[in-house]
Amino acid sequence: MNWETLHIGHGYDVHRLVYGRALILCGVTLPHDQGLLGHSDADVATHALMDAILSAARLPDIGQLFPDTSDRFKAADSCELLDSVMKRIRELGWELVDADLTIAAERPKLAPYKEEMREKLAQVMGVQTASVGLTATTTEGLGFTGRGEGIEAWATVLLGKSGNK
Ligand code: MG
Repeated sequence: MNWETLHIGHGYDVHRLVYGRALILCGVTLPHDQGLLGHSDADVATHALMDAILSAARLPDIGQLFPDTSDRFKAADSCELLDSVMKRIRELGWELVDADLTIAAERPKLAPYKEEMREKLAQVMGVQTASVGLTATTTEGLGFTGRGEGIEAWATVLLGKSGNK
């Protein structure tokens, strides 16, 4: 593809870990004794990814598009929100060239689920799995993430617009 315009975007998100919630990362429900707290399903990685995409397209962020004061987004499936973000950027002529995420979590160990998480995000975004990178790390016991109080995620994306749009 000959891209006429390329934009990068970056996103960051944090959610608190609590008992009594499912742990959903990149649209995949992971076996764990705690889950992330939030108005939606609190999928911190998908939230960071959406903000990266929206920033690259110079659109409002997810806090503005999907406000946590709205009942419409209560317990929302973040993958459905991601799907709507993709539709919105494609209407403007953008395509996702590449995405790369980092998730920092002290527990659980994410390595066994990384491929499934990449495949799920790629499927939702309608791109090849090869276009979605994922790194899982810990913070070596330091800070709120290290104390197991929450999970952090960062996402970087490259969006391209071809000449005929
Ligand atoms: Mg969030």
